[in-house]
Amino acid sequence: MQRTANITELRKLVAEKKRLGKAIALVPTMGYLHRGHLTLIENAKQTGAYVVVSIFVNPLQFGPNEDYARYPRDLERDARLVEEAGVDLLFHPSVEEMYPQPMVTFVEVSQLDKVLCGANRPGHFRGVTTVVSKLFHIVQPDIAFFGQKDYQQYLIIRRMVSDLNLPLEVRGVPIVREEDGLALSSRNVFLSAEQRQEALILSRSLREAEGLIKNGERSAREIEEFIRKTISRESQGLVDYIEVRDADDLSDVVNIERPVLIALAVRFGSTRLIDNKVVEVEPDV
Ligand code: AMP
Repeated sequence: MQRTANITELRKLVAEKKRLGKAIALVPTMGYLHRGHLTLIENAKQTGAYVVVSIFVNPLQFGPNEDYARYPRDLERDARLVEEAGVDLLFHPSVEEMYPQPMVTFVEVSQLDKVLCGANRPGHFRGVTTVVSKLFHIVQPDIAFFGQKDYQQYLIIRRMVSDLNLPLEVRGVPIVREEDGLALSSRNVFLSAEQRQEALILSRSLREAEGLIKNGERSAREIEEFIRKTISRESQGLVDYIEVRDADDLSDVVNIERPVLIALAVRFGSTRLIDNKVVEVEPDV
């Protein structure tokens, strides 16, 4: 595996592969890798492309009171993991390499970035779309992989690529969970044993809500209320949001008649966890 923290060198290495006719696949991450990231990498490998993984904790997407400073980092462990996973090139730029001067240019996907996580984290998605477009311009991949754990991010990136005619394909990868249902996240390391146990209520309430929809419940507000009650009854988690929205464009839903996204964000102590489920419905006859 090759690795570099330098944009010029990265461009040279990728250009050589492109000259040989290789397709390039990119898996952008913030590191502290887990099985979720490794599944994205497996998907990238399966395309037969030259696989580039980026690791960059992007300050631009963290608010002033968020966890940028304490976000977990372990580059050497990550480098071992990606090498074992058969990655071709690891790109791990410094903040100075990515942002040598204060940024005055941003990419913004309006509307989609105002709801769900965007409502509680102003500027977050602008930071994400800006750094992802920089990575797309630096690496120039043919395919890029994003996890549906961050479903809103996945939709926003797809929309950015479509609106700006960026010459690549975006592929989504389903959420990877622990055996007990907890969605894998780099932030799970911050949970105490007790909080981790309580956090299981997130995936469980999503599964139960899906069951209610499958059994005929069509009211989005009832589903949200059901999840809210379940979480407050069985945990100390503080709800940021629980929302049922259209799975294609995140628009408001009153009656569930098309595929919906049930998305939630809940704080356990100082750790904010997100989870979601897409539920398809049979049209009523
Ligand atoms: P992060 O390092 O948290 O920014 O995540 C990098 C990529 O991995 C993003 O596309 C995430 O959506 C994806 N990802 C993180 N956790 C999971 C998971 N549990 N299942 C699937 N994809 C994930």
